[in-house]
Amino acid sequence: MDATVGIPPAVTEETEPFWTAAGEGRLLVERCSACGADSFPPRGICRTCRSRDMAWVEVTGRGRVYSYTVNHQRWLPDLEVPYAIVLVEFPDHPGVRVVGRLRGCPPEDAAIGMEVEVGFEPGPGGFAIPSFVAGGGA
Ligand SMILES: [Zn+2]
Repeated sequence: MDATVGIPPAVTEETEPFWTAAGEGRLLVERCSACGADSFPPRGICRTCRSRDMAWVEVTGRGRVYSYTVNHQRWLPDLEVPYAIVLVEFPDHPGVRVVGRLRGCPPEDAAIGMEVEVGFEPGPGGFAIPSFVAGGGA
């Protein structure tokens, strides 16, 4: 599938560091300096205590599929279907869930609880967008 098909992300002051890091293959989430809660997607304010004292931390290590869906609908002419979209959580970052396309296995192999690694691929507008690679151990 060519992930460059679609609408480019809206980059704001709050999300610009995220997209810059994404271009370097790093997944960033916000961590609240006041209460320590992690937060995603970035918006410059803590979802737990509403502090605006947020710092960026890099997500490392594997994630685990929290939920998923398989898309069979060809939303755009160049879209290859089917593919799986997974919602991934990270043991080291409670509260953070990141959505992205699942790669490295057939969509029907997607399962709740499976381990995945963060990967990035070229997205719309030249942005690197997060996706997930099945297995995580490879
Ligand atoms: Zn907080």
